[in-house]
Amino acid sequence: MPPLNDLTRAIHCSRANGDDAHAAPIWMTSAYDFDSAEQAGDRFNGRCSGNVYSRFTNPSVTDFERRLAILEHGEDAVGTASGMGAYLALAMAYLSQGDHVLLGAGMFGSTAHLFRQYMGQLGVDVQTIPTTKTPLWASAIQPNTKMMVIETPLNPTMEVADIAALSEIARRNGVLFVVDNTVLSPICQQPLRMGADLVVQSAGKFIDGQGRCVGGAVVGGAERINPLRAVLRSGGMCMSPFNAWVFASSLETLYARMRLHEINARRLCDWLQCHPLVESVHYTGLAGRPDDALIACQQTGHGALISVDIKGGQPAAWSLINTLRLVRRCTNIGDAKTMVTHPWSTTHCRYTPEEKNRSGIGPGLIRFSVGLEPATDIIADIEQAMACITRTETESA
Ligand SMILES: *Cc1c(COP(=O)(O)O)cnc(C)c1O
Repeated sequence: MPPLNDLTRAIHCSRANGDDAHAAPIWMTSAYDFDSAEQAGDRFNGRCSGNVYSRFTNPSVTDFERRLAILEHGEDAVGTASGMGAYLALAMAYLSQGDHVLLGAGMFGSTAHLFRQYMGQLGVDVQTIPTTKTPLWASAIQPNTKMMVIETPLNPTMEVADIAALSEIARRNGVLFVVDNTVLSPICQQPLRMGADLVVQSAGKFIDGQGRCVGGAVVGGAERINPLRAVLRSGGMCMSPFNAWVFASSLETLYARMRLHEINARRLCDWLQCHPLVESVHYTGLAGRPDDALIACQQTGHGALISVDIKGGQPAAWSLINTLRLVRRCTNIGDAKTMVTHPWSTTHCRYTPEEKNRSGIGPGLIRFSVGLEPATDIIADIEQAMACITRTETESA
């Protein structure tokens, strides 16, 4: 038999738990019993492997970590309480007072706030650089630069950074390069294969797929993941076993879901591009983008996120959002249900208006996370909402 495909391995992985239950059990336990005092001592000291306490390891969390590592092409992974918990663990493990960090402009609002506000408060110098401007990253590196962090594609503008080129800049300068892969999931992009050192996932998005649990992960080489485990052991931002079980079983359907998300997203893009109230549509799968060669070589899919500039600015955007009947008003992404949000006033509200405008996030921008409903129903709802945008709203722009 030829070696199994990674998707197959990720689906069957939990059999390694040595149980005859067809579905993996949930290991809802905080503590573990030891055979002897000697064994307890050995486990605490790391002289032998084995569970000690679920703040350090838990079999359900380990099952999730193994499966995600396979899909991301990483050697190891660590589950965390949330995506932000993953970033906090990263920052605690790798940054100290006096260090310099380069952060992609327009990143997820809480990510930018964590680095700029809280790491800044601890004496870390955080500088923001547009992700698409590769040469600016090379020239911004200083002797104390420790970390480069990007999201690609950037939510909601769908701008794409060159992962391989930025990896090369990081490698040449001995800087840790971190890529947030939440938006595409490991099905549509594997940054570790293109030279990233670590990948961050917010697991409550596409990995969960139904908006049930909050969780996160960092994936990469074992020697880079070990310091994060040490932070979790003292910092406590560990993943719950129940959430890990939801995420691990959801990974079995991730490939199928991402393919259907994309089919629906493409249908909606085609429809939106022809609508008279639409100024522009942003999706990495659109033909004729100036960066389509880069996208073709670094992405294996385009995912579910589409953003649209509506004529008429915020009044028209809010009117559209408020008249949707099926599509949910929700800032989350990666759900079976199609969702809509207004990034200017929600996810990116902590950026200044100048920063938002510079990042391409205008008051008329709307983001859809396209779900798994038949595309005709999604389009019909958006069509009726577009029809309700009044002439005064589009003319007030
Ligand atoms: C949601 C999200 C996060 C934060 O993850 P939480 O699990 O909500 O803490 C970070 N990055 C991106 C791109 C996200 O979408």
